[in-house]
Amino acid sequence: MYPRLVMDIEKLRSNIDAVAEIASGRGGCSLMIVTKALCADEKIVGMIAAHPAVSYIADSRIQNIKKNSDIIRAEGKESVLLRLPMASEIEDVVKYADISFNSELATVEMLDEEAGRQGRTHKVVLMVDVGDLREGIFFKNEEEILETARRINDMKNVELFGLGVNLTCYGAIIPKYDNLSTLCGIAEKIEAAVGVKLSMISGGNSSSIYLVDKGELPERINNLRLGEAFLLGNDTAYGTRLPRTEDDAITVEAQIIELKEKPSLPIGEVGVDAFGQKPYYEDRGVIKRAILAIGQQDMDRDSMYPVDDRIDVLGASSDHMLLDVTKADYKVGDIVTFKLGYGSVLKAATSPYVEKAYK
Ligand SMILES: *Cc1c(COP(=O)(O)O)cnc(C)c1O
Repeated sequence: MYPRLVMDIEKLRSNIDAVAEIASGRGGCSLMIVTKALCADEKIVGMIAAHPAVSYIADSRIQNIKKNSDIIRAEGKESVLLRLPMASEIEDVVKYADISFNSELATVEMLDEEAGRQGRTHKVVLMVDVGDLREGIFFKNEEEILETARRINDMKNVELFGLGVNLTCYGAIIPKYDNLSTLCGIAEKIEAAVGVKLSMISGGNSSSIYLVDKGELPERINNLRLGEAFLLGNDTAYGTRLPRTEDDAITVEAQIIELKEKPSLPIGEVGVDAFGQKPYYEDRGVIKRAILAIGQQDMDRDSMYPVDDRIDVLGASSDHMLLDVTKADYKVGDIVTFKLGYGSVLKAATSPYVEKAYK
């Protein structure tokens, strides 16, 4: 069945080798591999958990951790919940995640109480916001950070495991020596004021890995959390390819359901498209137009790159994708293959209408 998302397990493994060489080799960081973009596909998580360079497996959804917690623990790895826990999921967080990222004392108090009930110790990474303005206690509120760390450290069933920062997500702020050093400075203040040794200082996601080769990752950063870097081989700070990675470990294949010569400009008064956008059309004269049975419910049209460079993407509605195949020789029923950007990986992995396949 098409469309299908094809995950090449060997290429993904070799991409992990490549990012591990950078992060844990030259960077001296433990490796946390992030599985959310593939909905924590069990086969892929199995490969990741068995990879000797990976210490932590992380996801933003507790459902994804829950379905894989046995595989992860059987390989002696730790599972990490990246998104701040909801009050309504505390029981599962304590049961299935070994570590969670937190910024709210009230939530950590619930985790402590629940961990006591379950007879477990739960590890907490305290998030600090150094300017991207998503999660974390704002770095200028030093009193709040120290007080929160002190209170967590006093709890019986949670351990203050470390500090974390997230960047280049909401505010698109790029990690630098300076803003990551702010995090390290805060870590040292906490250690001095609270009398605790912080085991993990997690210095960001795939946008931080470029700092390793520049020699600009601060010394105390000892963990990186990588999703897109191993999925697509991207440094997401500046959009460069990471050395020795493949960009086609994940592809989408879709089938042609109509192939006709038609004009490139629609005829009649132009309103708005299926998503309320005013479309733009380039006049290419009469062209050979292919319709694929895949749409924006299954992918993001701006991050679908045809492997065949004779094909141009014209656009997509919910269930249809339009291509200009004038320069190529396709027929109805043929399969078109795409490399993907992050948005399309996420949507294709999430859509129940997209088959999942492996090679
Ligand atoms: C999604 C996420 C990551 C991974 O991001 P990539 O850019 O895919 O490497 C890391 N940390 C947090 C908190 C996340 O939410």
